[in-house]
Amino acid sequence: MDDSHFGVRNKRGDWAPTGRREVAPFWAWPPQLGKVLAWLPGYVWPWNAFHLATALLWWFFVVPDAATLKVLSWGWPAWLLAVNWVACLAWYGAFEWRLYRQRAQAGRFKYHHKFPSESPSDVFWFKSQNIDNFLRSFLISIPLWTLVQVIFLWCWANGIGAWLTWDEHPVYLTLLLLLSPAIHEVHFYAIHRLIHTPQLYKWIHSIHHNSVNPSPWSSLSMHPVEGFLYHAVALWHLVIPSNPIVAMFQLHAAGFGAINGHIGFDRIELGDERWMHSHAYTHYLHHKYFEVNFGGDGLVPLDLWLGTWHDGSKDGERQMQARYERKLARMNAGKAG
Ligand SMILES: [Zn+2]
Ligand SMILES: [Zn+2]
Repeated sequence: MDDSHFGVRNKRGDWAPTGRREVAPFWAWPPQLGKVLAWLPGYVWPWNAFHLATALLWWFFVVPDAATLKVLSWGWPAWLLAVNWVACLAWYGAFEWRLYRQRAQAGRFKYHHKFPSESPSDVFWFKSQNIDNFLRSFLISIPLWTLVQVIFLWCWANGIGAWLTWDEHPVYLTLLLLLSPAIHEVHFYAIHRLIHTPQLYKWIHSIHHNSVNPSPWSSLSMHPVEGFLYHAVALWHLVIPSNPIVAMFQLHAAGFGAINGHIGFDRIELGDERWMHSHAYTHYLHHKYFEVNFGGDGLVPLDLWLGTWHDGSKDGERQMQARYERKLARMNAGKAG
């Protein structure tokens, strides 16, 4: 495919999509029903549909029965961890393999002109972004993902929380399922903004930001505090009336869904004419500029409302610069005073 129809490449070789990233259309006023209807299929397919499919797969084929979950032991959590490890190896590994090892689409639609393996750096374990990110995911983040899973499953089996059944509350649970990505976005924005405060950034979040040019293994490369807080979004389902399948979907949308911000390519080619949107650009800009796009894609556009939205356009760039200059002026005024 010719990526020049969809974006521009600068002198360094970095590719950027043209146009603006738009927040979800149902925030527009006056309401634009046509736009909302056109947006809905992309909301469900393919990413959220995949997270729901894996949530169901886990619930029916991986998660042990309630009697087993009721009693904490080493056995069933170890089993869940093993499955999560294998699943992440397959999921993140597939993107890594196809786009970064085989380089199936070379640099087409790639935001950064370099592949991480071309830039060894001292900030990474073994000087390698790939090895560092892989090890941090497997030794830290996936075990913490599993810990969150163990907590809500154990609570469910012991009747802790307001758990509902699909037979009795099909409409409410379906709505909650559809809203879960919005819960994710608000939760992620809140914890992300928190760990961008100077002290916490240095201590916790800088590890994730070592990957300025993120790739699939960067997705879950986190400090343990971030690794837990990020996946703890599923624990909201202990507070709101819910069902374990919805909680599992919430967890998988976080754990597997982290890929979306870190693919490094705007589109994944599926053939000569077919492609899939990665939805990665908003978060790529966060890795590039740090101070913009703390949330996700604008499903709940907190960045837009709070003045940190970068839509990928020249205008977005100007607004970011103006904000930066205002911040600098404030800091200088503070020093002078
Ligand atoms: Zn990231
Ligand atoms: Zn960040």
